Amino acid sequence: MNIQQNLSVIQSNISEACKKKNRKPEDVKIIAVTKYVSTETAEDAVKSGVEHIGENRPEGLKEKYEVLGDDVTWHFIGSLQSRKVKEILPYVDYIHSLDRLSLAKEIDKRADRVINCFVQVNVSGEETKHGMLAEKTLSFVDNMKEFPNIRIVGLMTMAPHSEDEETLRSVFSTLKQLQNDIQSKHYEFAPCTELSMGMSNDYEIAVQEGATFVRIGTSLVGKEF
Ligand SMILES: *Cc1c(COP(=O)(O)O)cnc(C)c1O
Repeated sequence: MNIQQNLSVIQSNISEACKKKNRKPEDVKIIAVTKYVSTETAEDAVKSGVEHIGENRPEGLKEKYEVLGDDVTWHFIGSLQSRKVKEILPYVDYIHSLDRLSLAKEIDKRADRVINCFVQVNVSGEETKHGMLAEKTLSFVDNMKEFPNIRIVGLMTMAPHSEDEETLRSVFSTLKQLQNDIQSKHYEFAPCTELSMGMSNDYEIAVQEGATFVRIGTSLVGKEF
């Protein structure tokens, strides 16, 4: 795995996608998802210029944080059990998987600072997917005013496993539309300026549709286990 080379390919693909839509490439940040690789490989990624790391398990986050520390920005991207919240809070900069009221309550209660959260939305409505349904998101975000330690920085989604470009595009553009709806409320606790969408197979489409964070594992750092 030549991470440096992978990163430069991904960066140039992102630039191309931005060019098509008159976006600035610097508005798209790359999260290296290291859940399938060792801490050593995550270190290599950081040496290659990665500034954001994403993990989907509390254990993985903790293990890698202990070596890499605050040199990078930490993203928790996996589904989060309420009883695990207190384990990850010391390490995270962003939580991408806020999807229910009970979780918001727990984060707010345990946090000693304001936590940047993405609301995870299940745009496609597939039952196997985590996240809340799109039509519930607006009222959920409104409820977040009760929680002083939660800031809704944006929305996150995972697209269905599909090769069909139009299917993917419509999922991403639905999330963008939802973001516009939330932003029009001008909530102080929910600036909602970010969109976390796009993975190894679909990040170029996601960037064309407005992603500000892409979460890339396999095609950046590979898969070791
Ligand atoms: C694993 C994972 C990714 C990265 O997936 P790749 O296809 O390997 O790029 C992105 N987001 C979430 C939530 C994940 O769990």
